[in-house]
Amino acid sequence: MPFYTCVCIDCGRVFTVALNRESELEGTQCPSCGSRRINVVPPEFVSAGGG
Ligand SMILES: [Zn+2]
Repeated sequence: MPFYTCVCIDCGRVFTVALNRESELEGTQCPSCGSRRINVVPPEFVSAGGG
């Protein structure tokens, strides 16, 4: 099962979730604030730190 790096739009929390497909992100909630507004970070951008 692949892992997706996600960023919460509301609080900016970065976390990873294990999903079969990105479409399952609709039911994913932020572990910090519980928001469902989540952005998926493409693997190419994961190594780009900072912030
Ligand atoms: Zn959040």
